[in-house]
Amino acid sequence: MDALVRSFVAGVFGLAFGSFLTVVVDRVPKKESVVRPRSRCPGCGTLIAPRDNIPVVSYLVLRGRCRSCGMRIPARYPVLELATAASFAATAAVWTSPYLIVVLCGFCAVMLAVAAIDLERRIIPNRITYPSFLVFAGAILLGWALGQELNLAGAAIGAVAYGGFFFVIALISPGGMGMGDVKLSGVIGLVLGALGLRYVAVAAGVAILLGGIAALVALAAGRGRKGAIPFGPSLAAGAIAAVLVGERLASWYLGSVT
Ligand SMILES: [Zn+2]
Repeated sequence: MDALVRSFVAGVFGLAFGSFLTVVVDRVPKKESVVRPRSRCPGCGTLIAPRDNIPVVSYLVLRGRCRSCGMRIPARYPVLELATAASFAATAAVWTSPYLIVVLCGFCAVMLAVAAIDLERRIIPNRITYPSFLVFAGAILLGWALGQELNLAGAAIGAVAYGGFFFVIALISPGGMGMGDVKLSGVIGLVLGALGLRYVAVAAGVAILLGGIAALVALAAGRGRKGAIPFGPSLAAGAIAAVLVGERLASWYLGSVT
């Protein structure tokens, strides 16, 4: 399939999946089911009609307000839907194996959901990291058995090294980083390590750079207290960057030092 067609299909699917992610972000931290009941307006309790539940489009048509009571719909709904669509489309443009595209789109979706939850509530739920670790470990094993270009040793080393790295940081700077960040980096190391350890290195570099920038911005804004800025979004952004431009960044970096 042509890269453009692949991207378009993945992007449309990403919009729909992003809509599901907004439900995940709302309900998983509250330990509620993501399947039922159907979504209601938190302001007036009206069931959201299918025509008002179209990703991004409904938000624009309703100008960001509930049809019945006029309560503001948070902008993170369309933003998360668009980000999911964009990451799916870009993943499908960069990778060619349909199996890897599906796995890596799922990985991007987990990263976006975790980033949104951590930004809003300062937690990374075990209800996301634990099942993600198992599902991706299974998907990597299955893909490897099916002849995909996946590195099992890299996956194991990536999970232990990346998770272990932040575990040590969490130990020496308590309050700066939580165990949620450590578990998340274990998932990231697992998936990216299966692609090649250079992808883990790219994710680490981008995450630490973004985390540093976020800390400086918070300091400048007078909110520099330790633990005041969640690190999950930086970890997630580094991981998505590695999926999308990891190969290029790694070869540029290695090329510049040799
Ligand atoms: Zn309402």
